[in-house]
Amino acid sequence: MTAINSELIIDSNLLRKNISYIKSRLQNESKFMAVIKSDAYGHNLESVTKSIDDLVEGYGVVRINEAIKIRNLSKKKVLLMQGIYSQEEFITAKKFNLDVVVHNHDQFKIFEENNYFKNLWFKVNTGMNRLGFEIDDFIDIYNEHLFDKKFVLMTHLAASNDKESISNHEQFKAFEDLTKKMHENVEKSIANTGCIMNFPDKSYDWVRCGIGIYGGYFKNKEILTAMTLRSPIVNLRQIKPGQEVGYDGRAKATEKMLIASVYLGYADGLPLAIEDGTKVMINNKIAEVFGRVSMDLTTIDVSHIKDCAVGDWCEFFSPELPISEIAKSNKLISYYFMTGIKSRVKKIFLST
Ligand SMILES: *Cc1c(COP(=O)(O)O)cnc(C)c1O
Repeated sequence: MTAINSELIIDSNLLRKNISYIKSRLQNESKFMAVIKSDAYGHNLESVTKSIDDLVEGYGVVRINEAIKIRNLSKKKVLLMQGIYSQEEFITAKKFNLDVVVHNHDQFKIFEENNYFKNLWFKVNTGMNRLGFEIDDFIDIYNEHLFDKKFVLMTHLAASNDKESISNHEQFKAFEDLTKKMHENVEKSIANTGCIMNFPDKSYDWVRCGIGIYGGYFKNKEILTAMTLRSPIVNLRQIKPGQEVGYDGRAKATEKMLIASVYLGYADGLPLAIEDGTKVMINNKIAEVFGRVSMDLTTIDVSHIKDCAVGDWCEFFSPELPISEIAKSNKLISYYFMTGIKSRVKKIFLST
């Protein structure tokens, strides 16, 4: 008997298609930075780098060990999007020819002390209030140190998915007013996936695209979920009206039902927050979660699926069942599902 397991199948062809589609929407001659932080949003950093390298101009990550892994595979730009926090990291960044974000005075001090101003991206705060220099502080730094240097000026939107949010326009205006005070060789970058989709004219010199590559962006049917999370049914049972399924009796049958127990739980990365009624796919038919997610099992109402058998695959998301839907219907986001799948799930990377 072979061991059963849940599987996360990643289709690199879809990653490539998503990138090509997103690039086709860009209005300027923007360069494309693939954001592959957090193990390429759970898709495997090294495999993703190898399979998209010819399509992109650079990569964005947060952890320096991820940057080094990419550098060993690619000659393209590699940006540390949260910068460095010590002299030691400065030396590593320089050695591996990394681009580095500078988002506060402590970080800038490291570069000033080393008199090193190459490959820097300065992040300004235009309303996110998380990282980035205040505009006036940055103008002081610019006037003192950067007026004759090449660098990239960047900021990050707080509500790029919401086309109507006025915060986007306030952030664009603050950024654009600032760029008018800089020399013309300063490159600019604002756009993440939501911004590329909703404000394609703001793609500037660099776009920093993450979730769109993986197909987790929710408002566009051309972009497909590149991951399939599937798990086999390990048991089937009939239940009677009035019987409850799983912990705390959250789900109670009002009629005769057929319940499938599937070999995947919150210890595999399926959020505990998954609600009854969440849609999954079995034998190309939609079925619904029925009962609370357990550590190692999830229960599904398969009353309406003919010929349902132990061993059949239950898909939680796939190119046909967008990850954004399971996320949205549970008040979560695609990013959370992608980065949450645990190592005991078997990862299968389909290369082109
Ligand atoms: C993660 C990240 C991105 C990518 O955002 P998506 O919404 O996934 O496209 C872009 N810029 C910065 C600074 C980030 O941290």
